[in-house]
Amino acid sequence: MGDPNVERTFIMIKPDGVHRGLVGKIIKRFESKGFKLVAMKFMWPSEQLLRQHYSDLSNNQFFPGFIKYMLSGPVVPMVWEGLDAVKTARFLLCAANRKDANPGTIRGDLCTQTEHSGPNVIHGADAVEAAEREIGLWFTEKELVTWTRTVDTWVYE
Ligand code: UDP
Ligand code: MG
Repeated sequence: MGDPNVERTFIMIKPDGVHRGLVGKIIKRFESKGFKLVAMKFMWPSEQLLRQHYSDLSNNQFFPGFIKYMLSGPVVPMVWEGLDAVKTARFLLCAANRKDANPGTIRGDLCTQTEHSGPNVIHGADAVEAAEREIGLWFTEKELVTWTRTVDTWVYE
């Protein structure tokens, strides 16, 4: 395990989040929390990339419909860095509790049909290894920006 202050996670605003104009709102949550943006793109992903990204879900019955949803518009893949970024981002999303996502969380506040359907506005890597794999799929090494925020002295001791 490295320094938790520099843990990186992979986050993606899904097509429904883009279509509904929630991009700014979602980015704001991560900025407000104190995470540092390391990389971001606006792109219409290929089916091949989505199938690679979600390869562990491919045997599920919902998969064909889910891929169709993920291809329904552009997405915003991002890399955020900070203290326990992977776990903390999953809390911000309310990922573990999709059935009744708590108010105050991104899914809890911004989407309704969270149980059975794909449209749940955001993806967040569920483990450090998953984050590393996903970052490698969506970004090249060069696209990960190394920079120091002057504000960091107010966020971390
Ligand atoms: N999904 C779906 N139907 C299901 C389960 C999952 O459409 O029955 C979609 C949903 O968009 C979810 C994604 O597949 O966000 C990945 O599923 P996972 O269980 O990993 O949920 P997450 O980690 O996103 O909370
Ligand atoms: Mg998942």
